[in-house]
Amino acid sequence: MTTDRFGRNIHYLRISLTDHCNLRCLYCMPEDMTFRPKAELMQDDELFYLVRLFAELGFDKIRLTGGEPTVRANVVNIVRTIAETPGIKKLTMTTNGVLLSKLAAPLKEAGLQRVNISLDTLDAARFKKLTRWGSFEQVWAGIEAAEQAGLTPVKINAVVVRGYNEGDVADLARLTVEHDWQVRFIEMMPFGGTTDLQKTNVVTTAEIITRIENVTGVLEQPNGAVMDGEARIYKIPGARGEIGFISSVTLPFCAGCTRARLTADGKLRLCLLREKEVDILTPLRAGASREELREMIVDGIWNKPWGHGLAKGEIATNRVMSEIGG
Ligand code: SAM
Ligand code: SF4
Repeated sequence: MTTDRFGRNIHYLRISLTDHCNLRCLYCMPEDMTFRPKAELMQDDELFYLVRLFAELGFDKIRLTGGEPTVRANVVNIVRTIAETPGIKKLTMTTNGVLLSKLAAPLKEAGLQRVNISLDTLDAARFKKLTRWGSFEQVWAGIEAAEQAGLTPVKINAVVVRGYNEGDVADLARLTVEHDWQVRFIEMMPFGGTTDLQKTNVVTTAEIITRIENVTGVLEQPNGAVMDGEARIYKIPGARGEIGFISSVTLPFCAGCTRARLTADGKLRLCLLREKEVDILTPLRAGASREELREMIVDGIWNKPWGHGLAKGEIATNRVMSEIGG
């Protein structure tokens, strides 16, 4: 078991398979984003070696993310190998859904358990505007394919951006009436290098709840104020699915954090919103021993920052979201 100096058990690793993406969501990356050369990213054998090391250290839950994880070459084989790694009990993915029509069934067969799919609006024109060129129909087909393949329960991630989709939150929430999905609303977070929009156009959870309740009536909090990971869970009375709120800006969940991140270029990122990282890939390539790498990871986790400083206006500027892995 790997703990930090605050006594938190860190056992959940989010691995970015690539910083590349087939969309350009305007809250995530600039339109003219330049991606890292493939040689700078962890190669398959390096990735598998590190996954085994993390599993030996007690990491039992892995989420594959990016960039867009499904554009990584060999993604089905990567899923299979990680799923077969002793000690890994949960394997999930966050994806924009663009390629899921084709990949959902093979990914499930390879051992992926479920997916979070990003979808910020049900309006095709607004979807295109937010993603700069994405097709709503393609993503919707991806969601259906995921459900059909058994990558369930499906969770939908919606980032809410003032001036773009704050008027769509009730329609998104109402998807849960008919579908056994969890629709999660995410407060937009600021990172360096993207755009001022992230600071000026945040819509708070409180406002999102009001906008939904204006249409659906008062939301229930089943079993009191339960959390599912970082999401606070609510429900439209009588609905099949649930609504989650991820309030990183107005109500951080740092005390309950169990996670660390491995970026596509092999850096251990200790907190999504702090710049502190430990380079693992460079020493691995330079011939560091298993024991040396293990010590770097344990030491990095021990020194994981308590939490982020968004409330004090502190913004991590060394990477944009797609380079960390959300
Ligand atoms: N490409 C995949 C996707 O879009 O689902 C996985 C990577 S993406 C970086 C992971 C999640 O981060 C997505 O749900 C995305 O909407 C969210 N995200 C991106 N930029 C964000 C920001 N500035 N604030 C909050 N969430 C953000
Ligand atoms: Fe790509 Fe996901 Fe970022 Fe959108 S949020 S640009 S899909 S990495």
